[in-house]
Amino acid sequence: MSAVPASAAPAAPVPMTETTTIKVENQAPGTQEAPQAANGGAPPVNWESEIQLVSSLAKLQELERKIHELRHVVPSKLLEPLSSLSNQRGPSGISYADSPVHLRDGLDQAARTQLANIQSFKSTWQGPELKPVWAHVESRIKESDGQILQPTGMWERDYDVLLEELLQAERSKEEERLREEEVTERTKIQSSERGWEAIVESFIQRNVPGVRVIKGQGALSLAIALLKAGIIFHIEGLSDNDAPGVAEWHVSSKAPPGRVPTKMENSIVECLNSRSRKWDLAFLLDMISSYDDLKQTTCVKCNKLTNNSAQLPTIRRVQSTQPSQQEPRVFAFDALHSSCA
Ligand SMILES: [Zn+2]
Repeated sequence: MSAVPASAAPAAPVPMTETTTIKVENQAPGTQEAPQAANGGAPPVNWESEIQLVSSLAKLQELERKIHELRHVVPSKLLEPLSSLSNQRGPSGISYADSPVHLRDGLDQAARTQLANIQSFKSTWQGPELKPVWAHVESRIKESDGQILQPTGMWERDYDVLLEELLQAERSKEEERLREEEVTERTKIQSSERGWEAIVESFIQRNVPGVRVIKGQGALSLAIALLKAGIIFHIEGLSDNDAPGVAEWHVSSKAPPGRVPTKMENSIVECLNSRSRKWDLAFLLDMISSYDDLKQTTCVKCNKLTNNSAQLPTIRRVQSTQPSQQEPRVFAFDALHSSCA
């Protein structure tokens, strides 16, 4: 917790005005812009949102921390090369005391570094992220007839820690929502007796190029042939005694008689069987289809077809931005080498 005495910090952060503007000479053109009018062109912000408030406070707290750092610019940081003349050495290894030229270079460098720190502070202060925050602070001060907003003049919380907690809670809520959505989908499919055949029919209707569905393999089973890749997969539904429908669709590769499955086929089958949504036949059919162009599909991570071990990208990862409302739902997959996954 960073509690600062009231005397060390402004009681409330106030936008930089003419009197508080840090004057820096030799600025690059265009950097000496006056702070823009409150709300001028800034996107609307929802000030009812707890996360918005906390993240704004975290930014202000960070700015204040930087102010304390910048207080040391004059004189200590600027004159650092002078402070220990006898033992300090420049980048060339020559002592500053031995060479006035090196001392001057050291002072130049210190000045440049500190000016850059001030510039960076200024652009954060005036930047687009803080613009709506300052506008909000100003309007609140106006509303309270110029009364300062912070009653104690101290930070009472570490807002970056609080922000992280809130974001974590938000993420857990989203994960929970996705889990519930999946349970609903799963129950819907599993409760219909012949549901899986309708899914196969709908997949066949889509006429996915290079993919053939071979039916009539017996109850709860079918085969898929990938024509370009020359691989046939056998799919079998395993039911759970307690629940209706299929609990999991299991994949095996079906090499022609007299040939054992290749290492590549085995690694594809392994990836298919370690997928999420094991109950979802539509997901599995899309995932298998994504292997048809195997010999032309490059890895999304290294952008290469084969890796150093001359292996193709045999890993498939579902793309996260899947619209769940679309019917029938189509899943897209990224290809990766096992070494890049
Ligand atoms: Zn790769």
